[in-house]
Amino acid sequence: MARTGAEYLQGLKDDREVWLGGERVKDVTEHPALAAAARKMAEYYDLHHAAAEVCLMPDPQSGTPMSVSHLIPRSRQDLQRRHACLERIAVWGLGMLGRTPDYLNVTLAGFAGRADIWAQNGNEQGAANLVAYHRELVRRDLALTHTIVHPTVDRRLPDVFAGGGEVALHKVADTEHGILVRGARLLATLAPFADELLVYPGQPIPAEAHRYALAFAIPMNTPGLKVLCRDSYTVPSSAFDHPFSSCFDEQDAFVIFDDVEVPRHRVFLDGDPQIYNRVMNAGWVANIMQQTTIRAQVKLEFAYELACAMAEALGDDSPRTREQLGEIWTYAELTRAALCAAEAGAREWGNGVWFCDERPFLALRPTLPRWFVRVNDLLKGLGAHNFLTTPRAADFANPALRPLLERYLQGATVDAKTRTRLFRLAWDFVGTALASRMELYERFYLASSPRTYQLAHLAAKRQGTRGLLAQLLKEAP
Ligand SMILES: Cc1cc2nc3c(=O)[nH]c(=O)nc-3n(C[C@H](O)[C@H](O)[C@H](O)COP(=O)(O)OP(=O)(O)OC[C@H]3O[C@@H](n4cnc5c(N)ncnc54)[C@H](O)[C@@H]3O)c2cc1C
Repeated sequence: MARTGAEYLQGLKDDREVWLGGERVKDVTEHPALAAAARKMAEYYDLHHAAAEVCLMPDPQSGTPMSVSHLIPRSRQDLQRRHACLERIAVWGLGMLGRTPDYLNVTLAGFAGRADIWAQNGNEQGAANLVAYHRELVRRDLALTHTIVHPTVDRRLPDVFAGGGEVALHKVADTEHGILVRGARLLATLAPFADELLVYPGQPIPAEAHRYALAFAIPMNTPGLKVLCRDSYTVPSSAFDHPFSSCFDEQDAFVIFDDVEVPRHRVFLDGDPQIYNRVMNAGWVANIMQQTTIRAQVKLEFAYELACAMAEALGDDSPRTREQLGEIWTYAELTRAALCAAEAGAREWGNGVWFCDERPFLALRPTLPRWFVRVNDLLKGLGAHNFLTTPRAADFANPALRPLLERYLQGATVDAKTRTRLFRLAWDFVGTALASRMELYERFYLASSPRTYQLAHLAAKRQGTRGLLAQLLKEAP
């Protein structure tokens, strides 16, 4: 049943163990460094009701309203319907919020749809638990965070074996009601604002790494679960002064499992590295990158609008600037085109589930991070010192200063206040602490470019080429 923002915020008051700056946070919805972002995330739930015709649909099983992002796609039409919902969410967040709950809704819908992959090697019960959990997610409309990466200790060893094998999250024992797990994982974006934590496979693990082959979901207030937030980049401020830093910090957290008991019915995988290494190759990219690419496209389109407005405010229509604006637009358009191609090539992947064509996504995955870094670089070149000649709203409210600011900070086509607001916004997009974190997010949230270029090459090799070179060499004397 689709929740409202108020219901979502109420659910976060559950005495979870969240740490920030050396202090245990009593209530994430009240804490000065977290409250604004919690309220922003509540808007996500209200948006579903405000845009119900696009974002909500009857749950195919119960008939009650559910987010379209929960839909297990079983046709091309389902993917189109999901696209409309995901796009509405991305537009609301300007593509600046990477881990709104739709990200993991889409992930889990994909896993539940391909439960056949999880059900191999005698893991039928784990797969059934996963499907039941998807139903619970839909019914309760929970916000999930996730951790799929092991801490980096010593790059000479497989991550799971570094630190004596005791650092990465692993199973310690079976208990009467489930399993006991210990260790750490990262980097749970949205953790303080999530209802539950989902643990599932990331990079492949060695065949003998049984105790690390885990997948499960637990509430954020599960005893022993410790969430260590990074520094907050929330600035207590107005939308004029810090449009993003005032409320867009979705947080990232290091998660420690200090002897956590996972109930048996919440365990989806317990000790099978083969399945662990298989599930992420069974349509995960083809499924999740519909969501991530829509978000990326919206963000790049926003960056283009921003760049154009900056240039226009300064009367800059030079060939050099036009070239740079054209370059930014090109990245947005190529992203849109790749998404179109992926959706046009959608097909049934097995078990009656439809995902997009994986190939355009395999190409975008390592390339988008570089485009985002390049776009930020271009924006910095366009903005230059203008980012920093930006008084606050309070300066404009001062009757002694305002006439001076209006005279000396006017733009070519806009007044001083509009120009200032624009460049403050642009700096919050490329230059503030939150902006730096957002760039790091774009670089790494789907794994690093070097890793994913290698995956693209391996996939291309599997698919084979036209054999043009071999043909030519055969024909040559
Ligand atoms: C802001 C942010 C939010 C995140 N949110 C989440 C989240 O919510 N949940 C979650 O589970 N994870 C999250 N992550 C973690 C993310 O999944 C990992 O950062 C990502 O998978 C990359 O892994 P890594 O950091 O170990 O980097 P690596 O992939 O190991 O890359 C680190 C560096 O090593 C180099 N490198 C690595 N491997 C190779 C190779 N094979 N060949 C050549 N060079 C290589 C790369 O150049 C790269 O610069 C987040 C990360 C960031 C930065």
